[in-house]
Amino acid sequence: MTPPNPISTELCPEELERYARQIGPGVFSVEGQLRLKNSAALVTRVGGMGGPASLALVMAGVGKVTIAHGDNLISPDLNRQVLGSEAVLGKPRATHFAEYLRSMNRFVEVEAIDHEPDDDEAQQLAQRVDVILSCPPGFEERMRLNRVAVRAGVPLIDAAQWGMTGTLIVVDPGKTACLQCVYPQQPEFEELFPVVGGISAAVGALASLEAVKILSGTGRPMYGKLWMIDSYQGQTSIVDLQRNPNCPCCGAVSS
Ligand SMILES: [Zn+2]
Repeated sequence: MTPPNPISTELCPEELERYARQIGPGVFSVEGQLRLKNSAALVTRVGGMGGPASLALVMAGVGKVTIAHGDNLISPDLNRQVLGSEAVLGKPRATHFAEYLRSMNRFVEVEAIDHEPDDDEAQQLAQRVDVILSCPPGFEERMRLNRVAVRAGVPLIDAAQWGMTGTLIVVDPGKTACLQCVYPQQPEFEELFPVVGGISAAVGALASLEAVKILSGTGRPMYGKLWMIDSYQGQTSIVDLQRNPNCPCCGAVSS
């Protein structure tokens, strides 16, 4: 693991030029952009949702983006994994995706982890980032990221997809419901579930927006909400989540 960069106190003229369209009323202040530069985000995994999410974080200027994803890229991934290409088929995803991300913004640092972190590694990672974007397909990994985020007191953005539907949950540990409050029992996991790339990209992009709002101190993060997007039926809804005082993950944690 690499040590964190020293804190930057200003943006250079080239950075101000790069981010010119996102600094101003309704977007980031210069101070907010600087906060992004001094922030670190963990994205795991970087498939259909985590790929667009990490790309948007890098392009927005989040100072350090760590991506984690095991295995090589395979053909069925390319209906949604925008960081990949046919040239990367059969090659390790994380290292190649990181290379692409680095090519998009020289002002940020991208770290690649070529596997899914276990409990210990995930906890160590959680302790050195400012936000976690949870984008794995299965509940076991999602719950692991939820646990380490709650323990480390780091905001968690949980993104999920199925078919043409997606959900987003934003957790402020100790203050709002965690993932385990919402799903006390892990639903059955379908290994090869259907998914269309557009919904993956949409949910991933929304996850990145929540992250940059939190990191920069801009706008109103959707803490304590479940955002459900059902593109198949053409419906979207936002639900207020309640904490479970007996939640085995966050019940004993107070703000
Ligand atoms: Zn909880």
